[in-house]
Amino acid sequence: MNMKAMWQYKCPRCRQSSIFSEPFEISKPLEMPERCAHCNQKLEPEPGFYYGAMFVSYILSAWMLLLPTLLLVFYFKWSVVGAISFTIFLAALVYIRLLRGSRSLWLHLNVKYDPPAAK
Ligand SMILES: [Zn+2]
Repeated sequence: MNMKAMWQYKCPRCRQSSIFSEPFEISKPLEMPERCAHCNQKLEPEPGFYYGAMFVSYILSAWMLLLPTLLLVFYFKWSVVGAISFTIFLAALVYIRLLRGSRSLWLHLNVKYDPPAAK
């Protein structure tokens, strides 16, 4: 798996084309073309494929939000309400990034790089 391609939402098979529809539309952050524009890799290999990505994003977000909240409350002595408000604000900021990142990670875990497809 290639972290850079994953981070930039490139197709895992050819690493050339984006796995999300461009340009980005705020109302449809997870819109994906059916196939990679470059290598024709199916971007939803099977129905319900991205249920796995939901678990990835759940685990990532739980840790990402739990740790700062605990740190704020127990180390910086914030009130619980203050810490949770801050965490919700933080979550809103990274929400789309996280959703897309989870899908990208999931696809990259399941589809291998294929150098001839990159040409
Ligand atoms: Zn591709």
